[in-house]
Amino acid sequence: MTLSKKLGEWYEKEKRDLPWRKSSNPYNIWLSEIILQQTRVAQGLNYYLNFIEKFPDIFSLANADTEEVLKLWQGLGYYSRARNLHETARTIAFNMKGIFPQNYPGLLKLKGIGDYTAAAIASISFGKPVAAIDGNVKRVVSRLFAIEDEVNSTRGKDLIKTFSYEILDVSNPGRHNQAMMELGANICLPSKPKCMECPISQYCLALKENKVAELPLKYKKASPRNRYFTYLIIKKGNRILLKKRDKGDIWEGLYEFPLIENIQETSPSELASKIAGFLNVSDSQLNITKISETVIHKLSHQHISCRFIHLNFPGDFEISAGTGIEITTDEFEKFPVPRLIERYIDNKGL
Ligand code: SF4
Repeated sequence: MTLSKKLGEWYEKEKRDLPWRKSSNPYNIWLSEIILQQTRVAQGLNYYLNFIEKFPDIFSLANADTEEVLKLWQGLGYYSRARNLHETARTIAFNMKGIFPQNYPGLLKLKGIGDYTAAAIASISFGKPVAAIDGNVKRVVSRLFAIEDEVNSTRGKDLIKTFSYEILDVSNPGRHNQAMMELGANICLPSKPKCMECPISQYCLALKENKVAELPLKYKKASPRNRYFTYLIIKKGNRILLKKRDKGDIWEGLYEFPLIENIQETSPSELASKIAGFLNVSDSQLNITKISETVIHKLSHQHISCRFIHLNFPGDFEISAGTGIEITTDEFEKFPVPRLIERYIDNKGL
């Protein structure tokens, strides 16, 4: 029996029962793949179900407000993906009569659809013989063929692609791609792969050559950039101030409290002076009610150390229109906010 046949049979028996696997509709496949690029299946499942419930088809997603989409996406990070998702839904709904391109090159032209997602949709929804290569598949292939080049180097990528096509089951590429992903997610794990349970272990060169633990090889990542945020939760009765984040930085289009960014960790007393300056009031007019502990929030390329400062608005000071928008505390949950803020408010309240 060939490798791909064994893998396919194993997948039919062992695959997890996941809602997007019940359909080959490109809308469902696209949505699930975009969400699963951001998170594991356990967490992504709820996001997928919430999206499908609210936007059951491409037209309902296309007609939604961007903020509704961002709100449903909240917590997944990389918000540009949610904006691309929305833009692509509009392109397909309004310029293509709601019909997805049915091949890999056509799918690749859509915003936010890269090699991997285009290959997944083309193979799963339209049976096209294209290998879908995500991080899981890279790991499996690099071990199967004992590839000793870094998987992110040009040569490493070329080898992974060549071998992925060599084992692709062209008679059922959708099942094959899903089986490879399932194997990477459940058996060929990054550390402690379950080689004893692997349906294709007899073909695995890394296992044969005792190199499983050292593969895949990867470039060392550059160290993340450290940033220091102070969020001001400014209250005036039951009203608070929010601002929308601009382009060109993380969290574009999400809302946040007025922010002071420092170049290094700052003590609470130094912060008080900065806040007074920021709000254009004297130190004595500040009415700080609470200063949080430092919260560390890690993104892939940035580590954010953040404090939340709660304060009542001083005296007769009026909030100027340019500073942001005033909302009631009850309205807060309608606004899409970064996960850092959502977590803090869920734990500590406004
Ligand atoms: S034998 Fe082990 S290392 Fe090789 S593909 Fe299977 S799980 Fe991965």
